[in-house]
Amino acid sequence: MPKAIVVGAGIAGIATSIRLKAKNYDVLVLEANTYPGGKLHAVEQNGFRFDLGPSLFTMPQFVDELFELHQKNPRDHFNYKKKAVICNYFWDDGTQFSASSEQSTFSSEAARTFDESKENIENYLKNSKEKYDLTAPLFLEKSLHKLSTYLTKDTLKAILQLGKLDIYKSLNDTNKGTFKSKKLIQLFNRFATYNGSSPYQTPGIMSMIPHLEMYYGTFFPKGGMHEITKSLYRLAEQLGVEFRFDEKVQKILVEGGNAKGVQSHRERYTSDIVVSNMDIYPTFKELLSRQKQPKKVLQQERSSSALIFYWGISKPFKELDLHNIFFSNDYETEFEHIFHKKTLSDDSTVYINITSKDEPQDAPEGCENWFVMVNAPGNHGQDWDKLKARCRKNIIHKLNKCLNTDIEQLIVSEFTLDPIDIEKHTSSHRGALYGAASNSRFAAFLRHPNFSSRIKNLYFCGGSVHPGGGIPLCLLSAQIVSDLIPNIPCKNAI
Ligand code: FAD
Repeated sequence: MPKAIVVGAGIAGIATSIRLKAKNYDVLVLEANTYPGGKLHAVEQNGFRFDLGPSLFTMPQFVDELFELHQKNPRDHFNYKKKAVICNYFWDDGTQFSASSEQSTFSSEAARTFDESKENIENYLKNSKEKYDLTAPLFLEKSLHKLSTYLTKDTLKAILQLGKLDIYKSLNDTNKGTFKSKKLIQLFNRFATYNGSSPYQTPGIMSMIPHLEMYYGTFFPKGGMHEITKSLYRLAEQLGVEFRFDEKVQKILVEGGNAKGVQSHRERYTSDIVVSNMDIYPTFKELLSRQKQPKKVLQQERSSSALIFYWGISKPFKELDLHNIFFSNDYETEFEHIFHKKTLSDDSTVYINITSKDEPQDAPEGCENWFVMVNAPGNHGQDWDKLKARCRKNIIHKLNKCLNTDIEQLIVSEFTLDPIDIEKHTSSHRGALYGAASNSRFAAFLRHPNFSSRIKNLYFCGGSVHPGGGIPLCLLSAQIVSDLIPNIPCKNAI
């Protein structure tokens, strides 16, 4: 049986291994950490369970697909529920808005809260759907770097309707051109952060992102986000994928223009194909240091990172749900700090995720597990201890004001994650959450392809390559890689 090696057991690496099994490859996954999942991991502290990285789960059908590919009913292995409330939004002046997952309710309640016309909001969501439907088959589901992608009806349709896609203006300008309420503009600007970009730079085409949340919905996996990793890892193991942990790959072996295997800090492994799930930057700088480097790709601006405070809170808050946002008063200044000054503004938007709302056992009785995150610049050598201390003080000040409480007194357990930690635990260059930022309209084309054009049998999956970061896109990258690799006929079938 031909052999495939996958470097890294992040969500995309695990998904690729499952897809390659369906193509009859003998698959070995080598992972530097002692656990699978990369950014999609969890930690327990003092009776509180915390998902460490992703908290928002959209497009669960991409996870289901991996079970179905092997004729398994996903519901026997992995479960989730649709959330009725997508997110609770708070502003310092006391405005609150609970975003319903039901589009008509969302539009009427948003119209009332923000004094906008319901029709205007509905049209915006309709445009969001149109943009998604026009571009997803072209930009997300296929390799952007194969001629065959461009020779389709979908591409022609997208090109003919380029004007509708708002690629020549920023997301903020698109939203400002649609709404008069500053708060509603801010709410829709926030979707730029779903791929770690700035709404003042990312193109207006990103206004398709709300469609994912508001049309398909947001979901919560039973057992928490970490269950995505755990269930896919179990599936891969059942299928016979071999995982070796604490196995840091140091080099991809290339002979005569072909990938021939890898060298880890323990052993040399040979294979017919190699797939790197490691961030593309260290993949080239460390594992392929002797090969020609794709300079433009590696110089691309990185997405934002994050500062996260994991707090055990000794009191339940009825006004909060799974996802909660406390907006800054000056969003533009906040992004100016993140992307240009490479620091944090004193009034950052605060995101709080509380899984114990849906999984009470994630916190002791009468308590809640708060994942408190602010968007942050990547690691450029800043004094993170100083930034963390100041940010913590600012967050507490904001939450005390909005929730009329004294949060400091309620924190009974605490640890943090900063961009240095994210880079250390996952090799993500500068601690970026989503690989490269989408702060230009060419960003999609500058992401590294899912294959190497110079080295045969070498492929790339994960958040730092096409089509981008976030769980759904990482899962799509695994699908694209698998589509690029030929099927091996099963011996029994011959
Ligand atoms: P990773 O998870 O980065 O995994 C790469 C793996 O490769 C790691 O396990 C690493 O140890 C391994 N590796 C690296 N180098 C080597 C080597 N030399 N040898 C062997 N193994 C190696 N996405 C969402 O969809 N929703 C969210 O709400 C969301 N929020 C986020 C919040 C945070 C704080 C973070 C950090 C990320 C968030 N994301 C979110 C993004 C999402 O987590 C990532 O896009 C996705 O998990 C990346 O998966 P991946 O497979 O590309 O790689």
